[in-house]
Amino acid sequence: MGSSKKGAILVLSGPSGAGKSTIISAASDEIGEYYFSISTTTRAPRMGEEDGRDYFFVSKESFEEDIKAGHFLEYAEVHGNYYGTSLKPVREALDACKLVIFDIDVQGHRLVRAKMNDITTSAFITPPTLNELEKRLRARCTDNESVIVKRLENAKEEIQAVGEYDFTIINDTVEVAAKEFIIVAKAAKLKQSKEAEEAFILEWLN
Ligand code: ADP
Ligand code: 5GP
Repeated sequence: MGSSKKGAILVLSGPSGAGKSTIISAASDEIGEYYFSISTTTRAPRMGEEDGRDYFFVSKESFEEDIKAGHFLEYAEVHGNYYGTSLKPVREALDACKLVIFDIDVQGHRLVRAKMNDITTSAFITPPTLNELEKRLRARCTDNESVIVKRLENAKEEIQAVGEYDFTIINDTVEVAAKEFIIVAKAAKLKQSKEAEEAFILEWLN
């Protein structure tokens, strides 16, 4: 991406079932204008999920064509499925000075950092313990046993990366976690691209 972007990026990661979607919707009225990046995935929709709202659900073949065409800002294989962020809508939202929120895994966070570190803020969201995560995944009733086991195994790996993030949000109660998330989102908006920073210095000196 060119460096002319004006918006900022907030990456949220954390185990599946951590409460990322719950927290974003609880905080959405308080964080001002933002664009939530809708990922593309090859996994099957869960009950209640809608194509184009939660994800763009596509076949493996179609995903692989998009990889070849260079359409993804980043993509990764998670729990045996592809997940990726399309470049075009992100670029448009940044050009429109929006805060762009990503719900992506730790591999995706590393790739976004590598490409757009200057405008990126990140938060790792997690329930207080692995046991609590398991309870929530079971209570959500959207995944079968083998999927839950896979997600818990993946969570044990993902938690090792918590130190790579700017902030950790422990989702004990939604109310407190949403308040913390609002603070992080507001701070994320204050990040400036290198180019904007240089322009500001020149202007300031004038
Ligand atoms: P994610 O988007 O990270 O996969 P969700 O937002 O779908 O996670 O949350 C997983 C499940 O846990 C949902 O059923 C949600 O209602 C529940 N949940 C979220 N936050 C809390 C919380 N603080 N306490 C209890 N249950 C929660
Ligand atoms: P879920 O299947 O629970 O919706 O998501 C599984 C995992 O994939 C979560 O950790 C989520 O953050 C991650 N994920 C969702 N979309 C993307 C994406 O576009 N890129 C990457 N790298 N990870 C994603």
